[in-house]
Amino acid sequence: MAIEKIDTLVVGGGQAGVAMSEHLSNARVAHLILERDRIAERWRTGRWDSLVANGPAWHDRFPGMEFPDINPVAFAPKESVADYFVAYAKQISAPIRCGVEVREVQRNVGRPGFRIETSEGIIEANNLIAATGAFQCPVIPPIVPKDAEVTQMHSFDYRNPDQLPEGAVMVVGAGSSGVQIADELLRAGKQVYLSVGPHDRPPRAYRGRDFVWWLGVLGKWHAAAMEPGTEHVTISVSGARGGVTIDFRELAEQGMMLVGRTETFKDGVMTFALDLNDNLAKGDANYLSVLGEADAYIARNGLAFPEEPDARIIEPDPQCVSVPILELKLAEVGITTILWATGFSQDFSWLKVNALDEAGKPKHQRGVSTEPGIYFLGLPWQSRRGSSFIWGVWHDAKYLADHISMQRMYSQFSSSTQRTSDGL
Ligand SMILES: Cc1cc2nc3c(=O)[nH]c(=O)nc-3n(C[C@H](O)[C@H](O)[C@H](O)COP(=O)(O)OP(=O)(O)OC[C@H]3O[C@@H](n4cnc5c(N)ncnc54)[C@H](O)[C@@H]3O)c2cc1C
Repeated sequence: MAIEKIDTLVVGGGQAGVAMSEHLSNARVAHLILERDRIAERWRTGRWDSLVANGPAWHDRFPGMEFPDINPVAFAPKESVADYFVAYAKQISAPIRCGVEVREVQRNVGRPGFRIETSEGIIEANNLIAATGAFQCPVIPPIVPKDAEVTQMHSFDYRNPDQLPEGAVMVVGAGSSGVQIADELLRAGKQVYLSVGPHDRPPRAYRGRDFVWWLGVLGKWHAAAMEPGTEHVTISVSGARGGVTIDFRELAEQGMMLVGRTETFKDGVMTFALDLNDNLAKGDANYLSVLGEADAYIARNGLAFPEEPDARIIEPDPQCVSVPILELKLAEVGITTILWATGFSQDFSWLKVNALDEAGKPKHQRGVSTEPGIYFLGLPWQSRRGSSFIWGVWHDAKYLADHISMQRMYSQFSSSTQRTSDGL
């Protein structure tokens, strides 16, 4: 069978692949995108039913198109987000081939480029961009044995409350996924326990502006690296129900039982760290620091934004915080499900090139890997805090397309070209 050749192959047709296509087309780089499912499949079938974007539609989008059917200040439901990327791909005529999986990539021996084994044959390319997503493989910490007498599920597999067996639920992890799922289960009438670790919880809106705007003008989306010691600090935000500030005390007020970080499990007993107070206090400090920086920004720029003194009110600690629960006999309190909202890892084992460290993590700078011609896109903190978000990936893709163009200029150079352009 003839081997198909293309200058640049993009693996993955999510938002990262679509953004990459736009910039490669602008740079006139011939390319092909291979997607094993459908465009933006993760948004369609990889998330729970009621999910809406965490940022308003004016912000969580690419520069080249607005959401046709969503009010710019509203939060797009996940299906609309998927539809948006399908429409965007059409608008830019992105060359996406769906239903084709990339299985292995190797460097050619003694000549440039890569040999790419796909579910539909071999392709050769000079460059390959792994745009396979930051949130690929569900991670469950090894705390509760698989055969324990309790249903265990990762947030990746959660769809809606009807899916869970009768009984109370322990949600482990209070980032944006955990807290939204816990809230949904509570509203569906479940008894919910929520294990809360270190987190930031920016105000949904303050003095008339959404937090995405504040993080933008305060330069926080553009932070180049995490502050040391914050590697395990998650962010708790929600666009659900029109967008609300995550307030753990309010959730406890409504009946949710908060516990600290989950530590161990033995003979049906789960134990928790004595850190709930500290985690909530640090979350409050983060919340108040955003208000403080926003006030300073308003004052510095002489803006006539409405005052919002009530935003600084922190309600008193509920009982589960002042008298923390340190262990729970799951059967005794009727917990039948543990829902792990404990994040994701990535799998690049199909890349048999020198672009990964011993732990299988990408070795790269801003997505340009240590293996010339191999690029990554959509990684968390690829170039900045916003990198794995919708708008951030678009800017990272631009950088990669620019890098590929420059490398192409070098590889196409020959002394005869130079003489011609010098008029010799
Ligand atoms: C629950 C949740 C909510 C989020 N909400 C927001 C939000 O509101 N706003 C925001 O900006 N960001 C949000 N994000 C972050 C981010 O925008 C999404 O995760 C987004 O889906 C990432 O897009 P991507 O293209 O990088 O990866 P993905 O959407 O995961 O796309 C990667 C694609 O690669 C394909 N693929 C993988 N391996 C192969 C292979 N070997 N061969 C061929 N194809 C392959 C997959 O099928 C997939 O379609 C959220 C993330 C999660 C988990």
